[in-house]
Amino acid sequence: MEESIFCLKHGESTKCSECVTEQLQADSKNLKEFARRVINAGCWESCELDGGDLQELAKKLGLIVPHIATEADIDDEPEYEVGDTIYRFSDVLNGGA
Ligand SMILES: [Zn+2]
Repeated sequence: MEESIFCLKHGESTKCSECVTEQLQADSKNLKEFARRVINAGCWESCELDGGDLQELAKKLGLIVPHIATEADIDDEPEYEVGDTIYRFSDVLNGGA
């Protein structure tokens, strides 16, 4: 999926390959940190995996993004109410194969 991004850093109006590379490196770093944390807490520290902590970490690392629930969301996920904040996978996790 090609998208046009205005690069403030390099002053280009098209997708800047340098910025794309930087973004991929940042995504990779965040995913690695998340994986390390999950393996550490889930496997090596006698199952001290806490859902709330994981969600905070995933949010901090840009792996999930908040979304305000609408009527359409409630149809799919009746446990929520309109206006609730629900989290969705970010583009980092949705992109790629
Ligand atoms: Zn750039």
